[in-house]
Amino acid sequence: MSEYIKAAPKSWHHRLIIPAIPKDGTPYTESFSVAADRKINYWGQLYSLTAPLQVEVEAYRAEGRIITVISVSGSVAVPCSRCLAPAGVAIEGELRYLFSLDKEEDKKTDPDYEADGDEELMILDSWEDEIDLGPLVWEVMITLLPTAPLCSEECRGLCPKCGADLNTSPCTCSEEDVDPRFEILKSLVQKEQENS
Ligand SMILES: [Zn+2]
Ligand SMILES: [Zn+2]
Repeated sequence: MSEYIKAAPKSWHHRLIIPAIPKDGTPYTESFSVAADRKINYWGQLYSLTAPLQVEVEAYRAEGRIITVISVSGSVAVPCSRCLAPAGVAIEGELRYLFSLDKEEDKKTDPDYEADGDEELMILDSWEDEIDLGPLVWEVMITLLPTAPLCSEECRGLCPKCGADLNTSPCTCSEEDVDPRFEILKSLVQKEQENS
């Protein structure tokens, strides 16, 4: 068992039974929740689900397709991008998936299809009578994860020189106003001079 999860865990597998979706277009709805016992690793950033993720599914038939809307809500904890203290962030959002029962459809050129980037068309094999929602719930969640979370809008971050948390107390070097990029440049120039 790895320390982190990078894809939908087995416990997230949840079957949407296609014959349960009414033929007359009436929406079929279902809700469930999923939890993660380990941290989620996404692009090197570690997120913890602080409560089970609530999932709402709405599926209906239209023009030979099954339209599935997956809504996800919950909260994650992630290190603040300035001071590294845990920051709690609420997440909420949805994605629409179009499942086609028509094998030929992926070969058709539908000019309207590319227009909406939030939708994804998937072709189902005729023998398939269920859709595994686990990987889709994972995908919806991933799109909602904050990339530069802050513990608060006013977070002062860490001193680039001594590493002190400027939220708890100012450090002595804060008045010198050192730009860390110039510090790196200075040390590079020094190395150059030493080598020549
Ligand atoms: Zn912070
Ligand atoms: Zn400092």
